[in-house]
Amino acid sequence: MSRLSLTRTGSSAYQSGYLRSQQWHWRRRRWFRDRRAAGFEPACQVCGVSLEDAGTLDLHHVSYDGVVENPDGSWTAREADEDLMPLCRDHHQAVHRIMDRKRDFHGWDRRRATLVIVAFLRAKWEKK
Ligand SMILES: [Zn+2]
Ligand SMILES: [Zn+2]
Repeated sequence: MSRLSLTRTGSSAYQSGYLRSQQWHWRRRRWFRDRRAAGFEPACQVCGVSLEDAGTLDLHHVSYDGVVENPDGSWTAREADEDLMPLCRDHHQAVHRIMDRKRDFHGWDRRRATLVIVAFLRAKWEKK
């Protein structure tokens, strides 16, 4: 079992494997379904566009702790609900542009970097 919690963008196995896996597909669906079942409409954490209005939202991994690569190459999706963050496609890409390229964030915990970047983008958005 290998853990990906320390990697920022994820390994290539994560990018090409996990994000295309059935496990992630179902985990993602379950996350949105559970939020709605709890009476909460998922919305981008930067601009606030709702799932209903956007049609689709991405789920950003605040932490990779629940992503487990099994010895046989299969994946187990055990992300805690709070380890996944809804973002519209534009703002998800914006988060990654900053997180993945800015040297300032190298060595940072992924959760902390995510929260700082989202707060920064939200402040910028609200000023518009
Ligand atoms: Zn957004
Ligand atoms: Zn992401």
